[in-house]
Amino acid sequence: MSVFLAKQETYEIGSLCRALDAAFSAYRFYDRIAPGTRVILKPNLIMPSAPERAAVTHPNVVSAAAKCLMAHGAEVLVAESGGGPYSPAAAKASFRICGYAAAAEQTDFSLYTECKYREVALPAGKRCNTLTVIEPFARPGDLIVDIAKLKTHGMMDYSGAVKNLFGAVPGLMKPELHCRYPDRESFAEMIVDLCEYIRPDFSIIDGVVGMEGDGPTGGEPRNVGVLIASTSPYDCDLAGAEIIRFDPMTVPILKNAHERGLCAASAGEIEVLGAKVSDFAVADYRHAHSSDVDFLAHFPKFMRPALRKLTTPYPKIRKKDCVGCGKCAESCPEHTITVREKKAQIDYAKCIRCFCCHEMCPKQAIDIRRFSLFNL
Ligand code: SF4
Ligand code: SF4
Repeated sequence: MSVFLAKQETYEIGSLCRALDAAFSAYRFYDRIAPGTRVILKPNLIMPSAPERAAVTHPNVVSAAAKCLMAHGAEVLVAESGGGPYSPAAAKASFRICGYAAAAEQTDFSLYTECKYREVALPAGKRCNTLTVIEPFARPGDLIVDIAKLKTHGMMDYSGAVKNLFGAVPGLMKPELHCRYPDRESFAEMIVDLCEYIRPDFSIIDGVVGMEGDGPTGGEPRNVGVLIASTSPYDCDLAGAEIIRFDPMTVPILKNAHERGLCAASAGEIEVLGAKVSDFAVADYRHAHSSDVDFLAHFPKFMRPALRKLTTPYPKIRKKDCVGCGKCAESCPEHTITVREKKAQIDYAKCIRCFCCHEMCPKQAIDIRRFSLFNL
């Protein structure tokens, strides 16, 4: 169990190549590549968004990884499904807006736009036994490199290498899974099941510029200056979570993975190669408004359900910024959003607080709020 950390202040492609080459070499990853080996790169393209906003993996990180792998004979295919409909037209638009179409042309890697998917069995799944994934992740035999973005997350607190794999589920099937697994614990267990099915061969987190505040799409860019790499996505996340000041055992996905014996409880328990976690720790990294509700543990058990209801953050639409595009309604697993007179509105009685709407709003018009009693 180990993680590799490299100081990386810019997205200059030459220096990214040097850092990633050192990471791949540290784990002898090139030994697994023969001429013609197909490598699937899985970035985080949660929504069509310019790389400067820090919601998506920067295309230069993916280009640098592709260059390193192609220099050793690999054929590289980039595959991802963000939220919203999963169609060739939507995939092409997302690749273009996120800067991947230009990067693919320059570096000569391929982009997956066929948008096929199928159901796969998860025999070792604890929460689910089947899931639908996009075709490149359903093919045994290819190598998979997970290239995530370092971000906060409204529902799951933290988003890194393991959460990134949710992008293997085709677009509008994601809300279905939110519906089937509405609370953080069951959702985390499903994500770990998915991770155990995909089992990425190598994981990288783009933490050159992370997202702080109301991630994974509504926060602000924050310079962190780190690239994180490992053959274990869990070990990557132990380091990533600590760098942006989460105790990994409060992050539902990492807690679930630890309980299943898939990772340690902290980065302090694994070998850290390159630089130290403390070299990058950002003491004032801002978390999403929905994080840090563990204070409920201080109350008697019988009071917790009522308090939880009162204190759970909720999505709030800023009417003045809403343009009535309906993307939030499309992504809502409970179909609880309607658009009338070009303004969206939420029926809170049915809202499960998954924040899919917050993630998918192209105008960042959906805030995460708490009731004022909690703020007090
Ligand atoms: S996605 Fe955003 S802009 Fe579009 S209807 Fe919903 S709240 Fe309004
Ligand atoms: S309104 Fe938003 S937070 Fe509530 S269930 Fe729908 S998508 Fe999830």
